[in-house]
Formats: sequence, structure tokens, C-alpha cells
Amino acid sequence: MLKGKAAVVTGSTSGIGLAVARALAAEGADVMINGFGDAAAIEAERARIEADFGVRARYNGADMSKGAEIAAMIAAAQAEFGSVDILVNNAGIQHVAPIEDFPPEKWDAIIAINLSAAFHAIRAAVPGMKARKWGRIINTASAHSKVASPFKSAYVTAKHGIDGLTKTVALETATFGITANSISPGYVWTPLVEKQIPDTMAARGLTREQVINDVLLTAQPTKEFVTVDQVAALAVFLCGDAASQITGANLSMDGGWTAG
Ligand code: NAD
Repeated sequence: MLKGKAAVVTGSTSGIGLAVARALAAEGADVMINGFGDAAAIEAERARIEADFGVRARYNGADMSKGAEIAAMIAAAQAEFGSVDILVNNAGIQHVAPIEDFPPEKWDAIIAINLSAAFHAIRAAVPGMKARKWGRIINTASAHSKVASPFKSAYVTAKHGIDGLTKTVALETATFGITANSISPGYVWTPLVEKQIPDTMAARGLTREQVINDVLLTAQPTKEFVTVDQVAALAVFLCGDAASQITGANLSMDGGWTAG
């Protein structure tokens, strides 16, 4: 379905991003992966995508908190593949603390990586998409783009912001064959969720089991975590012809969390 297309997926050395990159490659897209981690492990993932799906896979280590590196990554993908047709803004970090204790440098990092990075990447990728009259922009937002939770001020702010950015870009690009949408998962079992458990234990005075059952899964009426493959399948759907009239949408995949 995506043969001849090229995708950049930010924050794809792990979790949701890696699953999305692999799912796009499975449909035939060339992919540029990005993110931090052990160099040998990243190279193994890159090589596995090529071996499993017969596409070109490249790695770019751009830091999503730095606008110039993001623009250079999009330029590198365009030079390598000839185009960037699909852009998935997915890199994200979390920090959990009461507002009065929230470290300003964590606030700045979360706004930069979870929100401003998408602006820089979209800004760089849209001219090529407009020229080719085809593009898919998918932003990994969150249930926290629609509702808040205590102790996540920066994350909730950034995710609400990404919803506004998505809608604005959708309107600006609507007549160019480009769609821009957000996917808003509830809790997906990834390293990002696992890493916030100790801080949530401290902030709320709970055990690990209480955090999983009484904080995380309490929000989700289905009482089940979303899987990375379910998120990836929605991203693939958004890249297809059946989704050409879905733009400016913020699609929930949250086990009913934001229905209540
Ligand atoms: P993860 O920690 O598994 O992956 C995050 C990725 O971002 C990694 O590849 C990491 O290296 C990369 N990254 C972090 N900082 C970076 C930087 N400065 N520059 C480049 N790459 C950077 O987390 P995940 O759960 O897969 O999260 C992916 C996205 O999904 C995030 O935007 C997150 O907010 C969102 N999300 C996650 C959940 C969840 O429950 N896991 C729910 C809703 C939304």
C-alpha cells in the first residue's frame, strides 16, 4: 500500500514509534527512524526493518529538543529517499510532579520535545508534500490532549497544544492532498509508562501495584492497556486512501477513558 512512499518517524527507537515505523515498512514504505538509545541496539532494529520488509531504513539521531537538528533530519530524509511523504511526530518524554515542585528545565524539555519538535518537523516537511500534492502527518498526542491528570502539567499542556497544531496544519494543507491528524492513546504499555511509575508512587504515596491498578488502569474503562501494534495499525490506516477525508481529527484509542 505504501510502496514508493518515504516516512520519518520521530522517537522510533522504542515503544509506539518503533511499532509505527515497522508497520509502515511492512506496507512498503522506506523509513527513517530516530531517537536515543544504545547504538548497537538501534542499528540492530534498523537492520531488522530492512531484512523483514525489504525497504530502505535509515537512522538519524537528531535531538527533538533542537529545531535545527530536526530540520536537518527532514532534509537528510529527503536527500536519502527523494521525499518525505509521511511524517509521524511521536517522540515524547514525561515528568510527574506537583506544579510547585515541577522543575522548570523539565517543563522546557517537555514543551520542546512533545510540542515544538512537531512544529519544526512539519514546517520542514510540508513544502515537499505540497509540491507532490500528497502527504500524511500523524502526531502521537494522548488522552491528555483532551483531559488532564494531576502532576503532569507540562505533558498535558504540550499534548493539548499538539491538538491545536494538528488542526491548524490540517486546515492549511487541506487542498494539497495532505492530511494531519492526532492519535490519542490512553495508557500503552511502553518504557515511557513504566518509567513514570516510581515518580507517581512518590507523588501519590502509593505502591507499584496501586499505581498500575488504581491510577493507570482506573482511567481506562476497559481495564486493559492499549498495545503498540493497535496504535501502529491506526497510523497505517490514516496513510491509506480510505482515510483521505480524515483530517484535523484527534482520534482516541483509550479504552473509553475520554468518553466519561
Ligand atoms: P518511549 O519512551 O518508549 O519512546 C519515546 C521515544 O522518544 C524513544 O525512541 C526515545 O528515544 C525518543 N526520544 C525521547 N527524547 C528524545 C529527543 N530529545 N530526541 C529524539 N528522540 C527522543 O515512549 P512511548 O510510550 O512509545 O511514547 C511515544 C509517544 O506516545 C510519546 O509522544 C508519548 O507522549 C505518547 N503516548 C504514550 C502513551 C503511553 O501510555 N505509552 C500514551 C499516550 C501517548
